[in-house]
Amino acid sequence: MYSEDTIAAPATAVGEGGIAIIRMSGPLSETILKTCFFPSQPVDNLSTHHLYYGHIQKANGLMIDEVMAVLMRGPKSFTREDVVEIHCHGGSVVVTQILDLLIESGARLASPGEFTYRAFLNGRIDLTRAEAIVDLIRSRSEGAARIAVSQLQGKLHRSLLQYKNTLLDVLSHVEADIDFPEDEIDPKTFDGISLQVHQLVEDIDHLLSTFNSGRVIREGVSVLIFGRPNVGKSSLLNAFLGESRAIVTDVAGTTRDTLEETVLLDGLSLRLIDTAGVRHTEDIVEAEGVKRAKDKIAGADLVLLVVDGHIGITPDDRLALNLLENIPSLLVVNKADLSPASLDPLFSAIPHVSVSVRTGEGINELIKRIKQIILKDRSQEERESFMLSDRRHFQSLLRCRQSLQGFLENATGNFSSEFLAMDLREAISHLGEITGETTPDDVLNCIFSKFCIGK
Ligand code: GDP
Repeated sequence: MYSEDTIAAPATAVGEGGIAIIRMSGPLSETILKTCFFPSQPVDNLSTHHLYYGHIQKANGLMIDEVMAVLMRGPKSFTREDVVEIHCHGGSVVVTQILDLLIESGARLASPGEFTYRAFLNGRIDLTRAEAIVDLIRSRSEGAARIAVSQLQGKLHRSLLQYKNTLLDVLSHVEADIDFPEDEIDPKTFDGISLQVHQLVEDIDHLLSTFNSGRVIREGVSVLIFGRPNVGKSSLLNAFLGESRAIVTDVAGTTRDTLEETVLLDGLSLRLIDTAGVRHTEDIVEAEGVKRAKDKIAGADLVLLVVDGHIGITPDDRLALNLLENIPSLLVVNKADLSPASLDPLFSAIPHVSVSVRTGEGINELIKRIKQIILKDRSQEERESFMLSDRRHFQSLLRCRQSLQGFLENATGNFSSEFLAMDLREAISHLGEITGETTPDDVLNCIFSKFCIGK
């Protein structure tokens, strides 16, 4: 399985910096290093996992840079192949010169994600851990990083492995029945098998139930700020931006009638969508306006319906509320600094927070409530040792569950053991899609193409 060629690429981001790291992996790594790296204290043999100080020099004696270099002999390396890292000064010319030298000496430029792909192919990590590397690098909040780290530690992989072992055990009993049909499966064994699968379905259901919170933490959540004109929607968006410790992207997208900002609030990445552009009341009244509003609402994880607490509820507010049936939403009664109008009973019956965007009153409470609604059970994040956060994993696990459901139904329906074995093999294969054992090549290519060069 080990690759025959040697790859090289910068492992650090391009640009000026204190240091840059160039990584090389493959059978020629050590030989290539020896042709261009000269330790300040000459050694006969480079020790593995030992950092050497020296310089990189071209064949004509021209010195390129003072560096630190380390050779990590396989299999104790990231790719399980011989890996070299050269720590040089950060700067695109130095990095390019060293890289060119490595390539002239027999390496080739790595394609995106190729180091991680080799780690995966060589069995160093499974697919969930490879994906966790990208997630960790790209994570925008502490929560997202926490999920990625636990996946990188192999927590998800270990659970899936446990599921698979249970299924292999069940399969061995069912296959025994296929091989020796004359010895009927003892009904007791059969009950035991069904119980095992039932238990497994429960465990899978539990893991599936963590997906909603996991996804929200990993991907962030879209919050639509909705309501009639002049209630304070834009002001609310600005207040959120003021509260945010970090604006993750500035003006991610300004469409014709919405403004979007991604902010980090209390560890959660929120994509805030302000419908401030919908300035004309007729927009909502018109069929086209209603359709547009509905489309926006449908795409949001949470809708904040903002009303003016001083003026009170107007027919337009009622219209807006009608659009929110069955949509996770929170009523924001703004302008609490002014004398309050009485709230329509229809409105006071739904979850609401009173705020004054002008004075800042109630904004922290609003953020707390948003978090509560989005994470449903706020303690879930702390309680779970790991969460399912990736749609691909979720869908494969759902398919695995369907196959097991099929097994349980067929088992009570007196189907032949061949059928039962087929359900089990299908379920095992769906688990393998997650870990990489049975993932189709095009899916693998798609996953690794999302990496950048050097990862
Ligand atoms: P939008 O049309 O819903 O986006 O509303 P804006 O954010 O543009 O606000 C409309 C008006 O209400 C502006 O004059 C704001 O200054 C004012 N406003 C917003 N929030 C408050 C508030 O909490 N108290 C008071 N008194 N005025 C506010």
